[in-house]
Amino acid sequence: MVVVRILDQVVGHRVAIEKLLRTVEQERLPPSWLFVGPQKQGKKLVALGVAQAFLCERSRAACGNCPSCQRVARRQSEGLILLEPQGPTIKIESARQIVNDLSLTALGRGRVVLIDDAEKLTAQAANALLKSVEEPPPRTHFIFIAPSRDSVLGTLRSRSQIVRFGSLTREERSAIGGEDVDVEIRTRAVQVLVEMLGSGRVDAVAQLREQAGDRETALLYIKLWLEFIRDSWVLKSAAGVTKAPAATQNESLNSDLLEQLQVLSAYPFEKLGLASRAILQAERDLQSNCDVNLTLENLVYQNAGS
Ligand SMILES: [Zn+2]
Repeated sequence: MVVVRILDQVVGHRVAIEKLLRTVEQERLPPSWLFVGPQKQGKKLVALGVAQAFLCERSRAACGNCPSCQRVARRQSEGLILLEPQGPTIKIESARQIVNDLSLTALGRGRVVLIDDAEKLTAQAANALLKSVEEPPPRTHFIFIAPSRDSVLGTLRSRSQIVRFGSLTREERSAIGGEDVDVEIRTRAVQVLVEMLGSGRVDAVAQLREQAGDRETALLYIKLWLEFIRDSWVLKSAAGVTKAPAATQNESLNSDLLEQLQVLSAYPFEKLGLASRAILQAERDLQSNCDVNLTLENLVYQNAGS
């Protein structure tokens, strides 16, 4: 039989995984976890790995070999209840189905309910789950996955223990074969950011409208901007201490855009901090369906004014 230990397939996130495994080992799992962080970085795989560890018949860290581990690896375990959106939202019927499944007696070691894209739960669906989250049946645990804390209904969030996931480094991303964003798009995105933080508000608004007028592109730009700000933060911190420039460049995710990143890193920390806060706010606005052009316009004016 092939050994499939899901956590071995995860790239990165070592700190989060260690912490989660310790909780499983000590049998101190909370009724509900909320995994938050950028999309497509492996949160769901980590969640499946944790479920495998929890349900494993032989080891608290998942053996990958026992019947339970094999079933979880095939996503066919009776202990794993998986809910993913089939459309733009997760509707109340799906939530009710889960509540119903949970009313049946659990076989095996327990149950993990994994809800991916939990930001897509309608308010009714989230509320239908609340009671089960608050008072889950014995050995039943929820894992909600969402891009950010604030994208999930407050009542669910407040009942969940939050686990934060960062972005993978460029090396980690290429290790999982995740496609990198095209260099042309990254170059354009960094130029707009430079423009936005500079004084060219009119230009920045016009450029953004032209380049990122649709929601999907706007969200991609936002993801890139946050990376760029992080990079310039790294550059800036490195400038204050003695460190070989090569090491600095390696730590930087987008070292091919070093020239523009250096322009950004010349700004004070405070301005970069304000900018990332404004960008995160724009991300939330876009995720809650605010008008794309208005959101971007707001963002430019906030940054130019700060
Ligand atoms: Zn096992």
